[in-house]
Amino acid sequence: MSEILVLVEHVDGEVKKVTLELLTLARTLGEASAVWAGPGYSEAAKAKLAEYGADKVYVADSDEIVNYVVAPKAELLAKLVGDKSPAAVLVAATTEGKEVAGRLAVKTDSGVITDAVGLGEGFVADQSIFGGGVNVRSRVTKGTPIVAVRPNSTAPVAAAGAGAEEKVEVAPSDAARAAKIVERVKEEKGARPELTEAAIVVSGGRGVGSAENFAIIEKLADSIGAAVGASRAATDAKWYPHQFQVGQTGKTVSPQLYIAAGISGAIQHRAGMQTSKTIIVINKDPEAPIFEIADFGVVGDLFQVVPQLTEEIEKRK
Ligand SMILES: Cc1cc2nc3c(=O)[nH]c(=O)nc-3n(C[C@H](O)[C@H](O)[C@H](O)COP(=O)(O)OP(=O)(O)OC[C@H]3O[C@@H](n4cnc5c(N)ncnc54)[C@H](O)[C@@H]3O)c2cc1C
Repeated sequence: MSEILVLVEHVDGEVKKVTLELLTLARTLGEASAVWAGPGYSEAAKAKLAEYGADKVYVADSDEIVNYVVAPKAELLAKLVGDKSPAAVLVAATTEGKEVAGRLAVKTDSGVITDAVGLGEGFVADQSIFGGGVNVRSRVTKGTPIVAVRPNSTAPVAAAGAGAEEKVEVAPSDAARAAKIVERVKEEKGARPELTEAAIVVSGGRGVGSAENFAIIEKLADSIGAAVGASRAATDAKWYPHQFQVGQTGKTVSPQLYIAAGISGAIQHRAGMQTSKTIIVINKDPEAPIFEIADFGVVGDLFQVVPQLTEEIEKRK
């Protein structure tokens, strides 16, 4: 079976969920090989990758890989593409993953597909574009298919792989060293999951009315282990930080469950959440366009509905 490379996303040595999703997807199309770039590699990380089906784990764990923004990761993958001739390369469709994918495509003279929400036989990728209004199926026709897949597109399923480790030596080229990271400041993170990776997202819009009122959105989110998102109307009004904006000019999310409260469903908002598996809407206007894409909808005042929902969830825990 042909080998498929999966670039591992990791933080503090922990493999991120999106990588387990990509390994699961890769297994449906060939033999999954994980590529670890940067420090933090451990036996535990290897075990996790093998648990989700990595037959091989290529390890390039030098600091050099992460000290020069993303260029060395693209060089590492390009070297592996040259040495191993994989059938495809999968990366997460994160900001960094997409940049790596683009650079890799140039280096290997290959085609690249970004923001895939599915990948099938013949590496035909599904994309949801124009705010989710159009579904496109596309295939790379030149070189090694490089596909950036959105987090939450596949449910991770464990299936043991051999996890055979192979060290890879790679020294970033002078070109890759052109931009060096000089400082890293760790962002204070709450207990909530990362927005683009969360399995559940609860978002508030203009209907929430103020920054203080976002507390009820946060309470609902915390009751179900969700990330909090916001429409642009809410972030522009400074009710919620811009990094949590969902939509065309914000983050793209594709969770299992998306709850939209007080959001009308403008095309630019939909663009960032339309591929969510199940969409629940709470809006007092029955004509709000967001109901068109809702799986379940409540026509009602969010100030009544959201706290009641939170209370009921807490009661059932
Ligand atoms: C180039 C461009 C890029 C954009 N990018 C983005 C983007 O990335 N993300 C984004 O979100 N928008 C984006 N927008 C803005 C977008 O067009 C909308 O203006 C925005 O999404 C509206 O946000 P909203 O739904 O929260 O507000 P509104 O459209 O004002 O809707 C508020 C909704 O809340 C409901 N409501 C009010 N009170 C209550 C209540 N008490 N209980 C229940 N429901 C209530 C109302 O019925 C209404 O449906 C962009 C626009 C442009 C031009």
